[in-house]
Amino acid sequence: MTGASAHRIVIVGGGAGGLPLATELGDRYGRKGAVHVTLVDRNATHLWKPLLHEVAAGRMDADSHDLDYPALAHWHGFRFAQGELAGLDRARREITLEAVQSIDGEEILPRRTMGYDTLIICVGSVSNDFGIPGVARHAISLDMRDDAERFHRRLLAACVRADSRAAAGAAAEVKIVIIGAGATGVELAAEIRQTTRAHAGYGLEHLDPARNIRITLLEAAPRILPPLSERLASAALDLLRRLDVAVHTSQRVTSVDAGGVHTTAGTFFKADLVVWAAGIMAPAVLRTLDGLEVNRANQLVVGPTLQTTRDQSIFSFGDCAAAPWLGRPAQAILPPRAQVAHQQATLLAKSMRSRLAGRPLPEFHFRDFGSLVSLGELSAVGTLMGRLIGGSMLIQGLIARLMYASLYKMHQVSIHGVLRVAFDTLGRLVRERLEPRVKLH
Ligand SMILES: Cc1cc2nc3c(=O)[nH]c(=O)nc-3n(C[C@H](O)[C@H](O)[C@H](O)COP(=O)(O)OP(=O)(O)OC[C@H]3O[C@@H](n4cnc5c(N)ncnc54)[C@H](O)[C@@H]3O)c2cc1C
Repeated sequence: MTGASAHRIVIVGGGAGGLPLATELGDRYGRKGAVHVTLVDRNATHLWKPLLHEVAAGRMDADSHDLDYPALAHWHGFRFAQGELAGLDRARREITLEAVQSIDGEEILPRRTMGYDTLIICVGSVSNDFGIPGVARHAISLDMRDDAERFHRRLLAACVRADSRAAAGAAAEVKIVIIGAGATGVELAAEIRQTTRAHAGYGLEHLDPARNIRITLLEAAPRILPPLSERLASAALDLLRRLDVAVHTSQRVTSVDAGGVHTTAGTFFKADLVVWAAGIMAPAVLRTLDGLEVNRANQLVVGPTLQTTRDQSIFSFGDCAAAPWLGRPAQAILPPRAQVAHQQATLLAKSMRSRLAGRPLPEFHFRDFGSLVSLGELSAVGTLMGRLIGGSMLIQGLIARLMYASLYKMHQVSIHGVLRVAFDTLGRLVRERLEPRVKLH
């Protein structure tokens, strides 16, 4: 097949799952012309989502980690089209992409349609505020790079203001309340504690980070990290206490206002900055896709081959798909994790080979390698799962932290290959000696 008869695979969403998939399919088919692989994303650049809490706290400069989709497309033989998925016509096998505008509001690309033979939707997730009053207005959610950077700017401004108050002899507290003690909330709390300590070394002379920067973590469930094991949660709680993070469980938030956070227990937590990290759902556009089945969290319902229930030419995976967790009780669906999206991308790369050859498609079986929760630069806690160790094993400290860092390296390797990642890592190690340890603007 060449030219007009080429099979068109369109992947919508270039995140933790979609980008490795486009890369692998582009490497395999791109230059031969028999299959056209197109990646669509609303943004022009990719930043691995699990890095957002590090960007928010200021330990990472997003600019030095984001990747240009057009350049990746050029290197790996796929096409890139910028635009937000806005609609689907299944009979015509066409998606609609929203117009793209510059930051000044000028139209760069018009609203347009794009044809496909196989469509793969992997648009991730967004925060779910469950309609709680004030969250959308007064709290920041870490959905995108812009959110993380906005939080970081506000954190810096609050610290500088507090430092100048302290210099004048006035009270100088910065109160940060994080709602939701899942992995994102816990990791953000630990990260902020460590980066604000580092910031204090760069000119905030009157602020005592341990005393003046108050970090509070609120959780509606009776314990932190509800989906993870009790052992892991209690190890993480211990580390949070050592980092002076105040943890309040069984605190269901009822509203957020300009002054702080109210809970059902009638408690008011005063806050200068509020982060919402208490739930996610798939993007609302998935509800409007020409009758494709969705669940209550807007996720596209897919079967074991990751094909949507009502259209075998459309696949979905990652956070935006409700995929069955084979081997678990019926109704169990896979959790929204990068590990899941990554393994599903690997399966779909194989599935496309089978689909093009007219063979039956493989089913997705998740191999759970465990969970890791980062608690700052030098520590993490986690469980390792494996048959060799006969179940799960708790790991902590530097080893766990190195394993956590290796998750990102694996993502990079799936895009760039081992050699490039090795050089990149070396370059970063050298640069880190020449730059401040935290982002100061
Ligand atoms: C702060 C934080 C820390 C995390 N830490 C971990 C961790 O340690 N381990 C772990 O396993 N998981 C972690 N996660 C979860 C992990 O990030 C997600 O499970 C993973 O990114 C899901 O991959 P995905 O490909 O489904 O979606 P994403 O990686 O979110 O990618 C979705 C892509 O779709 C694009 N997109 C969205 N809507 C549209 C649209 N309408 N049209 C076109 N493009 C669109 C986005 O721009 C994005 O590029 C973390 C999440 C957060 C927020």
